[in-house]
Amino acid sequence: MSSECVFCKIAKGEIPCAKLYEDREIIAFLDIMPATKRGGHTLVIPKKHYEHVTEMPDELLCKTMSVAKRVACALMKEADGVNILLNNGKAAGQYVKHAHIHVVPRYKDDKIGLAHWESVKYHPGEMEEVQARIKKLLEEGNC
Ligand code: 5GP
Ligand code: ZN
Repeated sequence: MSSECVFCKIAKGEIPCAKLYEDREIIAFLDIMPATKRGGHTLVIPKKHYEHVTEMPDELLCKTMSVAKRVACALMKEADGVNILLNNGKAAGQYVKHAHIHVVPRYKDDKIGLAHWESVKYHPGEMEEVQARIKKLLEEGNC
């Protein structure tokens, strides 16, 4: 728990939010600065403070993702698609240091740059090197 954390304050009801869902462990509310003009951009968070999603217990992350899926399902009733996004760490675009899942409704031709990036190519043999490196990281434990 961080006394300065804006999402902890939202979870405790100390800062107002446009709440869509709440249970004992999780809360879902509208992002105050949505990516889409038509709104609906939702944040789903664990009430307990974890800076990164990668620090959350599996069970809680599954429950949080399950709520994100329900929100996505609801948004799909009026949108053409939905991006479910996790920004984990500053380099990945995480500014609020309380784990959260973005659910962003998408519309045909909304031109929001969330799902496209300039792709690069592996050099011959590079993919195998990367595969070996990351497999080792996975297998050394703590993940
Ligand atoms: P991040 O870039 O950290 O993944 O995204 C954090 C999101 O939280 C941003 O999209 C931002 O608009 C949203 N946000 C930040 N402060 C507040 C707040 O006080 N209330 C709500 N509802 N959303 C917030
Ligand atoms: Zn927090």
